Amino acid sequence: MKSIVIYGGGMAGTFLAKKLCQSFAVTLVDSNEYFEIPMATPRSMVDANFAEQAIIPFKHALPKVQHIQGHLMQLNPDYSGVVRLKTGQEMQLHADVSVIATGSHFSNSLVRGQSQTKLQRQNFYQDFSKAIEKAQNIVLVGGGPIGVEIAGEINDLYPHKIITIIESKTRLVSGTTAKVSDYIQQDFKRRGIRVFTNTQLVQASHPKDTVCTEAGVAMTADGQQIAYDLLMWCIGGHANTTYLQAHFADLLNSRAQVQVENTLQVKHHPRLFALGDITDLAENKMAWHINGQIPVAAHNIRCLLEDKPHALKTYKAKTNNPMMAITLGRQKGVVYLPIVGMINIPLITRMAKASHMLVPKYRKELGL
Ligand SMILES: Cc1cc2nc3c(=O)[nH]c(=O)nc-3n(C[C@H](O)[C@H](O)[C@H](O)COP(=O)(O)OP(=O)(O)OC[C@H]3O[C@@H](n4cnc5c(N)ncnc54)[C@H](O)[C@@H]3O)c2cc1C
Repeated sequence: MKSIVIYGGGMAGTFLAKKLCQSFAVTLVDSNEYFEIPMATPRSMVDANFAEQAIIPFKHALPKVQHIQGHLMQLNPDYSGVVRLKTGQEMQLHADVSVIATGSHFSNSLVRGQSQTKLQRQNFYQDFSKAIEKAQNIVLVGGGPIGVEIAGEINDLYPHKIITIIESKTRLVSGTTAKVSDYIQQDFKRRGIRVFTNTQLVQASHPKDTVCTEAGVAMTADGQQIAYDLLMWCIGGHANTTYLQAHFADLLNSRAQVQVENTLQVKHHPRLFALGDITDLAENKMAWHINGQIPVAAHNIRCLLEDKPHALKTYKAKTNNPMMAITLGRQKGVVYLPIVGMINIPLITRMAKASHMLVPKYRKELGL
């Protein structure tokens, strides 16, 4: 059997592994014991029980795939990967095709666990949801989709808490249309969620790399001092590609993203594929788009391994496509679809995402 190693068991790596594991010997490297459905995270923070279905050990999600609990430290010129195992030992992995799908690196473990078991991640949510329950003043740094969804979840359950979003850009969720941003801003105004756009946080009592659960003060560039009992860093991640620095630094752009061909092969390296958040594809970094990358990558890997290099398919980046589905708590949300436009009818947005956070969809795709 031909072999494939996939580094990163997030949205891209996990679902690519699922597609390829019937025909090839697939190894998946990820420091966690589990795959976590990221859409569920904002709700798991306030309702730890919600995480039970959203965190799926790889042995259940991908029973035909060999999972190695480790971290890719370096990719060598022959595409062998130096992996540090959870035990601290190092091993080297070789395969006929290698795939890097190591996604985004966040400032701390709030939205993404590292080197954890399912139980440890569930315990984290238990503790963190209690911290939210206890806090009266909550500051969210970052008004992108993650910060907005978390604000909606907290307000839904605790309408009397004082929630403040600090966003440096001129509007919330700037990756989608101004109309959607306005709708969210109006909804939050009605619900008493304070939004400071065009506002830069310059200092907080707790550094970015900690999950803060204590009181402090956030200071903004325009001189405001906002006291908090809990501060949550909801700023976006950046491409997780440090393992390419030693031998493939020339492939990284200024944002540390990997340059890929439209076949999802890494530029000049046909046996190395990259997909998901780490790529330099000009599109919003979203699972929604990754869903379109996976069949292309799977087809092309199959072609290479079956000696049909001329039958490769191409992926067209969703450049400037503002499609997005954002929840504003359990009862409603806002969806933007090209051609259709903005949809804010609670019945529809509840069915589309808010009532389930896409957990059943992704579990079903994993055969669960
Ligand atoms: C809280 C949250 C909510 C979101 N909601 C939505 C949504 O509703 N809709 C939507 O379309 N998108 C959403 N997104 C964005 C979407 O989840 C990401 O675009 C997507 O997960 C990226 O997939 P990926 O596989 O590239 O990376 P990730 O899903 O980030 O996975 C990367 C994986 O690689 C592993 N890894 C990292 N470094 C290494 C290494 N050196 N060696 C081995 N493994 C490594 C990590 O442990 C992780 O499991 C959300 C993101 C977050 C964080």
